[in-house]
Amino acid sequence: MNTTNYDIVILGGGCAGMQLMHQLIHHTNYRGESILILDEDKTYLQPKSWCFWHKSEDHPYQSIFNTTWNNLSIGFPEGIKEKSINPYRYSFIKSESFFDFHFKEIHQNNHIHYSNDKVLKFEKCGNDFFIETNQEMIKTKALYSSFWNQAEVANDRSIFLQQQFYGWEIYTDQPVFNPRAATLMDFSITQTNGVNFAYVLPHSEHNALIEITGFCEKEYSIDFFEAVLKQYIQKNWNCSYKIIKTERASIPMTNFTFKRFTKEGAIAIGTAAGMVKPTTGYAFNRIYRDSILLANQYFNKEVPAEFSHTRFKFYDRLLLQLLKHSPSKGLHILKQLFRKVSYQQILCFLDEDSSLFQEALLFAKLPKKDFIKQIF
Ligand SMILES: Cc1cc2nc3c(=O)[nH]c(=O)nc-3n(C[C@H](O)[C@H](O)[C@H](O)COP(=O)(O)OP(=O)(O)OC[C@H]3O[C@@H](n4cnc5c(N)ncnc54)[C@H](O)[C@@H]3O)c2cc1C
Repeated sequence: MNTTNYDIVILGGGCAGMQLMHQLIHHTNYRGESILILDEDKTYLQPKSWCFWHKSEDHPYQSIFNTTWNNLSIGFPEGIKEKSINPYRYSFIKSESFFDFHFKEIHQNNHIHYSNDKVLKFEKCGNDFFIETNQEMIKTKALYSSFWNQAEVANDRSIFLQQQFYGWEIYTDQPVFNPRAATLMDFSITQTNGVNFAYVLPHSEHNALIEITGFCEKEYSIDFFEAVLKQYIQKNWNCSYKIIKTERASIPMTNFTFKRFTKEGAIAIGTAAGMVKPTTGYAFNRIYRDSILLANQYFNKEVPAEFSHTRFKFYDRLLLQLLKHSPSKGLHILKQLFRKVSYQQILCFLDEDSSLFQEALLFAKLPKKDFIKQIF
């Protein structure tokens, strides 16, 4: 079997693999190092809607933002609360645009290679990694991996919930949507089996993606999701509509200790590195920040450090425990959070950019008894 050498190999060309490739080739010290991305699954063919908040207007993915909102809404049984999130914006990228953007970069750079070959195994010998695919043997000194084993995480003794969601992108006859604000969480829907909420991304007065989301252990049926969706659309907009796209997925919510390195010694990226925030399911921005860090470390010849146990992991564990064992209390805390704390402070906290002092102010506004019970 032939052995081909690459400077860098990335296993998985999804959200994390592509963002890492982008940061590497745009790094000021990049000198045409060869990069191979291996992904057998063609995940890019399954459309996803990625949203995230960001501060700057000058975002590297600005050119492929599909929609950007300056306001966010939260729905309570007593009504919707819409607020500006300035200086943040909430932006939406279609995964199709994201992959087009990155495949263009791949095609324009002779040093980047993309392959759908199947990875059979990979291991480290001395300073080199050897990756065996169904076609060839590959050798590299820098290996990044987004492969992870969901069963291993689910069978661990960590808390494990699923963020399940199902939604429709619809077109309506009437101009019914408010395109100024995305609805992050509307808690006014039925609360069975876990914490449920509706998520609404209005792209225009006639067009929106509406999803029903549940933080729960039990798998929801499509019938359940569709019944709640229909009821939600009927209650809020009461108009005729055409479904143009369906999205269904589930994202792990766990305090499993993801490691910086895989057991083979490769550098883990994306979900495999715990970049999905356990309590929200957001990962896009965390992956973005991590990709910048990893690209810097690569060119500075620094070995990445193992992840440390931050206080944010502790907060995540407390909320996950509440959501798992007392969903009604978890729901109450989420509602109180959005009622009493400014949306900007919440976004800053979820980005893990807040100071201890800011966190103390935030927690002071929440029912402390429920949190304290989770510690003991
Ligand atoms: C439908 C959906 C919507 C989401 N929406 C948001 C959002 O709005 N905002 C947000 O911040 N986050 C969101 N997330 C969470 C997060 O951004 C994504 O899960 C993100 O795709 C994680 O990046 P990743 O590279 O780790 O995984 P992926 O993007 O799934 O990429 C992993 C890649 O590795 C490949 N791969 C894995 N194992 C193997 C193997 N053994 N052999 C070969 N190839 C393999 C897969 O084919 C895939 O291409 C969403 C997730 C989903 C599923």
